[in-house]
Amino acid sequence: MMREAIRLNMNEVPYPPPRRIIKAARQGLENLNRYADPEHLGCLRRLLAGYAGVPERHVIPGAGSNLLLREMIHVFSKERKVLMVSPSFLPTVEAAKQFATKSVSIRLSPPEFDLNVEMLMKTVREPSLVVIDSPNNPTGKILITRETVERLTQNVEVLVVIDEAYYEFSQVTFADMVADHPNLAITRTMDKAFSLAGARIGYVIAGERFASAFSSYDPFLPQCSLHAATEALADPSYVMRNVCRVIEERERLLKKLDGLGAHVYSSDTNFVLIYTGLPAAGRRFRDLGVLVSDLTTQLPPGFIRVSVGTREENDVFLDRCMKILKDHESKRLFSKNHA
Ligand code: PMP
Repeated sequence: MMREAIRLNMNEVPYPPPRRIIKAARQGLENLNRYADPEHLGCLRRLLAGYAGVPERHVIPGAGSNLLLREMIHVFSKERKVLMVSPSFLPTVEAAKQFATKSVSIRLSPPEFDLNVEMLMKTVREPSLVVIDSPNNPTGKILITRETVERLTQNVEVLVVIDEAYYEFSQVTFADMVADHPNLAITRTMDKAFSLAGARIGYVIAGERFASAFSSYDPFLPQCSLHAATEALADPSYVMRNVCRVIEERERLLKKLDGLGAHVYSSDTNFVLIYTGLPAAGRRFRDLGVLVSDLTTQLPPGFIRVSVGTREENDVFLDRCMKILKDHESKRLFSKNHA
């Protein structure tokens, strides 16, 4: 029988949530013929507000932050230009392509992948919706500072969405700014650091302009997800344990890869960006039983994004790196001298 491939391609956290959360999700199953109780959704909102440290009226929960981002782009892109960075979280890029009358992206280029703030400021001189993932997927880098958010939001014609899907890993947030910045929204998710990717719970921390546009938004969340999420938020202390384990493993992985001569990038998330110098690197890893994300459509050929797995999974990945490295065809793998 074929062994299942190791999944390091979806930026999931490899550790399951505590048993009490799985038990709560099971409780949701007991009422599967019923829609979730609206009071339970209210409870989730309250708990998320407490977790994010903002008043409840600023919180909009939804079935994954992906969907919420898509919805915001749908609603706000009609009379505005959409401005993003490239590369960026792909479904958001696709939503902008689908809905926006006009969309522009600012290129993040290797080797630093920094955001050119002055170019950003120049590009938002007309009514715009700015959507920036910070930390960025796939570079893993924090892209934006508080000062830049402040500058962007001074223009009332500009709506700013900061995607903080990896906030728990980076510990950088602008959530506290939404109360005074009606044109700012932050998106977050419980799918990553909370170990709840299968539950698909995301939320917006919304400034007034966003909150009022979404006031009639009534997400019907699945029973199991709602039970799991409220139980998780009742005691989120495990999240920091997850984050510490992931960061410890991430740093070990980066060190080992560096030892192999790989061109790796520091990360503020639970994944790492690696330059392999190898076309179709994703396929080579897949053939050896490890799924990684091949970034050929977003970056020059040879870049892959790899989630931080368990220690055992990462060791398998490192072993496959060495196998590929030995392959005489791939002398360029992990070349440090790419453009
Ligand atoms: N933003 C970024 C930057 C992401 O990487 C992801 C998931 N990979 C999302 C948003 C979507 O998260 P969710 O699972 O909540 O839809």
